[in-house]
Amino acid sequence: MLPSKVEYKGRFQVPKPKVLIVGDKTIIQNFKQICDTIRRDPKIVSKWYAKELAVPVQIGDRGELILTGRFNSSIIQRLLDMFVEKYVICPTCKGPDTELIRLDRKVWILRCHVCGAETPVEPF
Ligand SMILES: [Zn+2]
Repeated sequence: MLPSKVEYKGRFQVPKPKVLIVGDKTIIQNFKQICDTIRRDPKIVSKWYAKELAVPVQIGDRGELILTGRFNSSIIQRLLDMFVEKYVICPTCKGPDTELIRLDRKVWILRCHVCGAETPVEPF
C-alpha cells in the first residue's frame, strides 16, 4: 500500500493509519505516531474512536490502538480526518498549531498558538 497523506495548511501531514484486522479486532499499528503528529493525548483519540464506533478500545503495549470489531481502513481514516478537523485544526486560520483545553467535562476549547483564537468545541 502506498503511503498517502492528508494535507493541511503548511507542512502539517497526518500519517495514514496502518490498519490490521486480526480475528475480531482491528489494530491501528501507527496510532502513537499519529497522536504524536497531531499532538493529542492518545487517550482522547482512543476515546473518540470508542465513541464513534461504539465499541471498546484499548491501547496496546507498543502504543497501538486495538478496537473490538472489524473496521476497514476507510472508516478509520474518515474518523481520523473528522477528529483532526474538529479538534486539531484552528477554524479561524486553518493552522494545526493548537492545543485542546478541557476546562471540565462539558467545556472544551481549541486554542490556536498562531492566531490566538479560542474556539469552543463539542466535548465527547
Ligand atoms: Zn488560528
